[in-house]
Amino acid sequence: MKIELNKTTALKKKPADETQLQFGRIFTDHMFIMEYEESRGWHSPRIQPFGDITLSPAAMVLHYSQEIFEGLKAYRRPDGEIQLFRPKENFKRLNVSAERSVIPNIDVDFALKALCELIRIDEDWVPRSEGASLYLRPYIIATDPFLGVRPSNKYLFMIIMSPVGAYYPNGLNPVSIAVEEEYVRAIKGGMGFAKAGGNYAASLMGQKKAQSEGYEQVLWLDGVERKYIEEVGSMNVFLIVENSNGRAGELEVITPELSGSILPGITRMSVIELCRKWGLKVTERKISADEVFQLYDTGKLKEIFGTGTAVAISPVGTLKKSGRVITINDGKIGEVSQKLYSTLTGIQYGKIPDDMGWTKAIRGL
Ligand SMILES: *Cc1c(COP(=O)(O)O)cnc(C)c1O
Repeated sequence: MKIELNKTTALKKKPADETQLQFGRIFTDHMFIMEYEESRGWHSPRIQPFGDITLSPAAMVLHYSQEIFEGLKAYRRPDGEIQLFRPKENFKRLNVSAERSVIPNIDVDFALKALCELIRIDEDWVPRSEGASLYLRPYIIATDPFLGVRPSNKYLFMIIMSPVGAYYPNGLNPVSIAVEEEYVRAIKGGMGFAKAGGNYAASLMGQKKAQSEGYEQVLWLDGVERKYIEEVGSMNVFLIVENSNGRAGELEVITPELSGSILPGITRMSVIELCRKWGLKVTERKISADEVFQLYDTGKLKEIFGTGTAVAISPVGTLKKSGRVITINDGKIGEVSQKLYSTLTGIQYGKIPDDMGWTKAIRGL
């Protein structure tokens, strides 16, 4: 399929100060869009000026939330080249989300090609300042104008892009987390493993509650027993603990196993691969919230951190559960968190050699 190009005649003003960019507020000059109809499959791919789209007020996405999305970033290397981090994984995951949401699959290679063309057209929008990047948002919405409940017969696949500033302009700041015991984000058998807008709608109430109690994010428990930790905010969660084999000083990395209600993060997968490469033992298993506090009480809990594209690594400083508050690693960034952050962002921004083969320069794609 050939991508039609309709360039804007009026380029927008770029942000004056890249260090002041807020997440997801301003968008580049162009966007990618293609359509799906049952009789034609995906068709009419085009890059056009960023702007409003028209939808029927009856479009199914507006009523029954048949929507999925992805999130990844384009990074500017010191030599000026732009690169992506494991981008195929994002489009493969989009198809996993599509499957669960009864949305037609997209061609992974074609989507990646479309993304690269779009970035090339708006390449001046990829920030140059420390820690800033261009956030990329591919998504699919159901557009059939119909109020009956069934999968839509029509869809739009779009990509929009937004320059974002450094997440931690003043260095890594540990966050405060409250264990949420009332509301759940997802349940086994539901959509938790899919990157779907509906999961975010379900998470807003718990997030609001945590914030009203003075905590930044929620530690989600499983929706069935409300016992096992699943994710922190919209990040995967990791614990660094003293190894259970008892050898003093030896560390083990533990993270909840992918149970169906957890989103399989690409940062999560990369952290697991890096830690194993470094010779750390990594275990994916169920971890109860009570076990986290027991590990703390026995002095074995060294670090907790979240992982996701937006932040890379987000250390947890304080953790609250039903009235009890603990401070992890004196509220400071742990050694493993810091090393993971430096390595991951170093590879993403092309500042250290990528011996994992994770990055793709957009020129070559
Ligand atoms: C996107 C997402 C993550 C992180 O995934 P990455 O691929 O690492 O960015 C974790 N949890 C939820 C709920 C998410 O939506």
